[in-house]
Amino acid sequence: MRWSAGDRSNIEDARGRSGFGMGGRAVPIGLGGFVLLALLSWATGTNFLSLLSPTTTDDSATTVGQPAPVNTTPAEEREVDFVDAVMKDVQSTWSTLLPRGYRETRVVLFRDAINSACGMAESATGPFYCPQDQRVYLDLGFFEELSQRFGAPGDFARAYVIAHEVGHHVQRLTGIERQVRAAQENNPAAQNPLSVRLELQADCFAGVWGHAASQPGRAAKGQVELEAGDVEQGLQAAAAIGDDRLQKMTAGRVMPDRFTHGTSAQRVEWFRRGLSSGNPDSCDTFNQQQAH
Ligand SMILES: [Zn+2]
Repeated sequence: MRWSAGDRSNIEDARGRSGFGMGGRAVPIGLGGFVLLALLSWATGTNFLSLLSPTTTDDSATTVGQPAPVNTTPAEEREVDFVDAVMKDVQSTWSTLLPRGYRETRVVLFRDAINSACGMAESATGPFYCPQDQRVYLDLGFFEELSQRFGAPGDFARAYVIAHEVGHHVQRLTGIERQVRAAQENNPAAQNPLSVRLELQADCFAGVWGHAASQPGRAAKGQVELEAGDVEQGLQAAAAIGDDRLQKMTAGRVMPDRFTHGTSAQRVEWFRRGLSSGNPDSCDTFNQQQAH
């Protein structure tokens, strides 16, 4: 991927004021447990928020506006610039696709744990989108896991994760998410199948951005531009985090009734649809039979 650093206006940096010491509840799990939970939660979508009652939360976790010093490295700062550049590009793509319907969001970068409008969230939960405050939440540590545990390295694999979360923002803005939640409440049996369709659509929306980013000549304009091999990285990431593959990794078998994100094949299929069409209309996972 080719990209250039911008002004970080797509980032809310909470790395210095998040963490277990700032109101989060320390969880006695080792690094292995942390890593496993991060993968599971992000990929299965279940339990990705630990909801604690507000009374158990320390006020310091919600303090805003006070820039706190961040212990960081040049490599990590480069990742912050990368996230900002991808966010900017994904969002400008959606502003074009939905000229009247798109509103900008930001990525909240945090470490270990953060108090979001959706409750107390730990890094172990992986990246997520909170519909209540319409923000994407990300601990940069997840990128390492994506590459090392999932076997999905590379810039575009990371960009796909970000674009997938912005896909959930689009679903929020267009009312799709609201409709799905209502349908799930009316029919609890349809909860997981509907969740799968919602997630596959976010994959397809990520692909729609990938299509835009693959157009030549973008880097010269300071935009993100995909290079040879990037699409394969993204497809590899989509394949790496299918429910079936994760269940095999963790439980040793596949349990289709517990699917919340779709199989590897489905995730690849819908990501590919968005990639090849560049058109969000091709992402109607709700009125189509599941991908073959
Ligand atoms: Zn998702």
